[in-house]
Amino acid sequence: MNEVRPLIRDELLPPGRRPRRHLISISDLTREDVERLLALARTFARSLEREVKKLPTLRGYTVVNLFYESSTRTSSSFELAAKRLSADVMSIKAAGSSVDKGESLKDTALTIGAYDPDVVVIRHPSIGAPELVVRYTSAHVVNAGDGKHQHPTQALLDLYTIDEELGRIAGLHVAIVGDVLHSRVARSNIQAFLLMGAKVTLVGPPPLIPRGIEAMGCEVSYDIGAIRDADVVYVLRMQRERMLEGENYVPSLREYAERWGVTRERLRPGQKVMHPGPMNRGVEIDASVADAPDALIERQVRSGLVTRMAVLYDLLTHEPVETEVAAIQEVA
Ligand code: ASP
Repeated sequence: MNEVRPLIRDELLPPGRRPRRHLISISDLTREDVERLLALARTFARSLEREVKKLPTLRGYTVVNLFYESSTRTSSSFELAAKRLSADVMSIKAAGSSVDKGESLKDTALTIGAYDPDVVVIRHPSIGAPELVVRYTSAHVVNAGDGKHQHPTQALLDLYTIDEELGRIAGLHVAIVGDVLHSRVARSNIQAFLLMGAKVTLVGPPPLIPRGIEAMGCEVSYDIGAIRDADVVYVLRMQRERMLEGENYVPSLREYAERWGVTRERLRPGQKVMHPGPMNRGVEIDASVADAPDALIERQVRSGLVTRMAVLYDLLTHEPVETEVAAIQEVA
């Protein structure tokens, strides 16, 4: 009897689960990974041109979005991405959940883990929060922003946007301007742009540029005039919520706007302008720049949907890209 039991048990087991993978940081990815994800995002973009936009691809999978920090773009695009792929989605925001009552992230992760989600997407003010979810659930984990550390899907959607708009990433010069010190977007994007062969210059006042950041492989300029040399000017938000109290990073927002704001006069015609949102119009970016045809900001939001569809799909399947494309086209 004892000999038979394991045999039966094995036969009843569903096909082996795929190895667990996570997207915590851009440093988790190789250039080939990024290229595969961008190709997948392009395929999904084509699928969204159809009248019926939903694909059955992730039917039966469950995606949980766990957001401990406010978000409009990231949370809505992850939710829609999962829905467009027919996954079941549960979105939990800290406000109004037991987090409000002081529940620890560990307990929340254990609670959510009890539903056996396939993917948990987490945004949290603390660096390392996604790793904790890795430890206490058996889901694939996607980092949707942890403190000032990483925001890898933002970097991927930015790469996608640039590639679509300019036809390449390698060889381009990107200036990232503003509050680099407090920006997870900057950290992810510096890595991502360099990985894909672009040149990166960080531009901003010395207190907002981390000392020694050149070691990542980028250049630094404390002169706002340096943005004119770039093909793409990537503007960062002044992250007031992450600034330490009593630290005078800049004298005032008005002075910041005057000295470091990206205005029409400071740009060359034809330069592309990007911003991860939310924007402080009139502080780091002038309204006329944000609304100009060379601003890719709305394109970035659109790219967020297909890029996040690609990330969810890739984590759960990771077949060679040719197979993935063929499978999707069959459904279309
Ligand atoms: N939305 C981006 C983030 O969550 C950028 C920002 O908030 O400034 O990091």
